[in-house]
Amino acid sequence: MKYVIDFSEGSKEQSDLLGGKGANLAEMTKLKLPVPTGFTITTEACLDYLKKKENVSTELNLEIRQHIFSMEKRTQKKLGDAIDPLLVSVRSGSKFSMPGMMDTILNLGLNDETVIGLTKKTGDGRFAFDCYRRLLQMFGDVVCGIDKNRFEEQLDFYKSKKRYLADTDMQAEDWQELVAVYKDIFLEVTHQPFPQNPYEQLSLAVEAVFRSWNNRRAVTYRRLHDISDSLGTAVNIQEMVFGNFGEASGTGVAFTRNPATGEKGIFGEFLLNAQGEDVVAGIRTPQPISELEALMPEVYQEFLELGHLLESHYKDMQDIEFTIENRKLYLLQTRNGKRTAKSAFKVCIQLVEEGIISKKEAIKRINPTMITQLLHPVFEPDELKNAVVFAKGLPASPGAASGNIYFTAEKAKKASEQGEKVILIRQETSPEDIEGMVVSEAIVTSRGGMTSHAAVVARGMGVCCVAGCETVYVNEFLEQATAGDLILHQGDTISVDGTTGTIYLGSIPYVEGDEWQLLETITDWAKEGASIGVKANAETPADIKTALKLGAQGIGLARTEHMFFGEERIVEMRKMILAENKESLLAPLDRLKEFQKNDFRAMFTLLKGKACTIRLLDPPLHEFLPQTEEEIIHLANETKRTTTEIKHRIEELHEQNPMLGHRGCRLAVTTPEIYEMQVAAIIESAIEVAQKEPTLEIVPEIMIPLIGSKEEMAWLRECLEQTIQTIFTKTNQVISYKIGTMLEIPRACLTAEKIAEVSDFFSFGTNDLTQLTYGFSRDDSGKFIKAYQDKKLLKEDPFQHIDEEGVGALMKIAVDKIRGFDPSIKIGVCGEVGGDPQSIRFLKKIGVDYISCSPYRIPAAILTIAQEQ
Ligand code: PEP
Ligand code: MG
Repeated sequence: MKYVIDFSEGSKEQSDLLGGKGANLAEMTKLKLPVPTGFTITTEACLDYLKKKENVSTELNLEIRQHIFSMEKRTQKKLGDAIDPLLVSVRSGSKFSMPGMMDTILNLGLNDETVIGLTKKTGDGRFAFDCYRRLLQMFGDVVCGIDKNRFEEQLDFYKSKKRYLADTDMQAEDWQELVAVYKDIFLEVTHQPFPQNPYEQLSLAVEAVFRSWNNRRAVTYRRLHDISDSLGTAVNIQEMVFGNFGEASGTGVAFTRNPATGEKGIFGEFLLNAQGEDVVAGIRTPQPISELEALMPEVYQEFLELGHLLESHYKDMQDIEFTIENRKLYLLQTRNGKRTAKSAFKVCIQLVEEGIISKKEAIKRINPTMITQLLHPVFEPDELKNAVVFAKGLPASPGAASGNIYFTAEKAKKASEQGEKVILIRQETSPEDIEGMVVSEAIVTSRGGMTSHAAVVARGMGVCCVAGCETVYVNEFLEQATAGDLILHQGDTISVDGTTGTIYLGSIPYVEGDEWQLLETITDWAKEGASIGVKANAETPADIKTALKLGAQGIGLARTEHMFFGEERIVEMRKMILAENKESLLAPLDRLKEFQKNDFRAMFTLLKGKACTIRLLDPPLHEFLPQTEEEIIHLANETKRTTTEIKHRIEELHEQNPMLGHRGCRLAVTTPEIYEMQVAAIIESAIEVAQKEPTLEIVPEIMIPLIGSKEEMAWLRECLEQTIQTIFTKTNQVISYKIGTMLEIPRACLTAEKIAEVSDFFSFGTNDLTQLTYGFSRDDSGKFIKAYQDKKLLKEDPFQHIDEEGVGALMKIAVDKIRGFDPSIKIGVCGEVGGDPQSIRFLKKIGVDYISCSPYRIPAAILTIAQEQ
């Protein structure tokens, strides 16, 4: 089995085998870009190692050795050579990027002898010993599990002893002394000296990177991002290039477009005289990349060109890691950049406009969950006027949030479990903090830049983040943050604006985000040629407006019972329910009709001829009855009855099993006047709006809930058609209309071809259909579904994601039966699953014509449908 592949042999398509980093290094090598030479140990090697639970095999070590030999030939250097040693980096790299979750070792190959060689070769002992102490620290941490802080403490101690302010004050002898101290730590903790043999170093390092696939933070990250545990990581061995080789060297990370806003143009940062992980780890605050132009104009220009080339090659925004060694630029990694939802939308739109990708490709690239992030909250502008600014930092991830501050991930997690809204504030975050970051409303760091760990992870999660608040002194030990005279303690409330990078004292109200324009462009493209329609479940003018703005083709479900809950209306509704005879029924019905007509006129006017499916009254009547003593007294006064009479009537209406009781069309079988009033209100208001706006073709779709048989439907249809005919005669006006039903009773699905004889259209009510198919009460199943999921008796909640096997099978039967009777009959879905991307894929497959869902789920539904084309 071949487990090692040279960069020159691989390609970008091989990310399964080579990991994302390895595949892209191979691709860049193929493009002849300045990539330090190297090779990749495959994910298969990792999986094999993890399975066998033994040391790295002799065969693998041999294969690695052969590839080192060819690297030695190419570089004219030798691993372990006392005069001109080859040094390598060892980096993890799985198929999907898991920033900072696994391990990296730099400067491998250094030992007591080669460090002298490097000193002589470079004439720079400060540099050589700095490299060696970094290797000791990284190797100690990654391979032997020595706490990083053991090393850091010694460095801090040494610096303060010498009164040095920065690492750059350290001289060759200083690093040399520190190397001795580090080696002692190594010996003390592991009871072994630091391995001097570079091949032994290499083998142990590879093994440690393999193992890091299963470290806790990597496992947590995978769980959060739905990444399979079975992928394994590749290991990349690459010739070292040195960004810490003096002031003409440096290292950085840059994006070809802004990952927070999507703005065009290079965006990133760098640190002079620094190595590898310094930028990502956020240990020092880097400079913006634009400042490189003044310092090293040729390097900057070359970087711009390479960025452009990579972006055109990959047809997407790139996130590039680079190192400059003595004014020579090297690329260490490129990948499609992680970005905020706003940036994702903007970049996609730009790439289409620039002719780099097609609209279809743009749509594929938008993950439906990004839409929620796109509409990020922002603070109420008026509230901000009087807000007290605590500090300012870098706007690392947009959004607005208020919460109580915690200084450790552990405490943030605990507080959030108690129901608190928390904000994690730290000097800088590291992968160990992931569990605290996940539960935070916002993340604040005092150090680190726009590509620091905090910034990258927060953006990925869509959590608001302000990084690099240099004016804030964060004391994690004392749990306080100080900015000038202001001091914050654990539990204090702050508000974080990740869009402007400002932190305020106290809590500030916010409004939801507003990137409608970007969303509209993408949903408009997605709608082009969409095979099934998307309508809204909405009845209030505000919801209808939102739905239309978000791309709804019309209303697929207006639940008329929602219109009966207004203060005046509920009284009339109650009067109607309490009526003991026809006469006392008519007066409240007349008043309700006026309310309904107002509502329907508003709907038809807003919809301007778009589809409008109005469902007649559905829930059991007792839902409208007074609950409290106060309400009962009020109703007694209104209806001139005694409270005893009211209570008696409430008792009469009580049902043992209301969801299976006197509700839906059954109400109309016993009291047809209710539906007749509703239908009259619909038809009359449609005629009135059509008269006012003659260009609009208004075709109301009247939907009857809970039909179980053809006989029920036929009887009700006749009843309602008589009402409609009476209106036509009275007004001398005729309009088109449709009368259809919901499919929410299993019997209706099984006899759908018969019901189709008397129904103009159908819409699956999957909420009731799931309830009745599973026999799970939709109101009470929350109490036990979780236990079913925990015991793996149910994969997911069938009220959220369609149960394809059961409910789905019934739906398929119904669709086939209806289509068999008349292929042109429209069939929709208006239960909750109609807005769930996963369910939509299934619904599309069984052949429904449209789905209908709540307004905010519309764009994701439109996108999902387009992505399935
Ligand atoms: C349904 O049952 O799926 C439905 C849409 O109707 P409701 O939720 O109003 O019962
Ligand atoms: Mg229903």
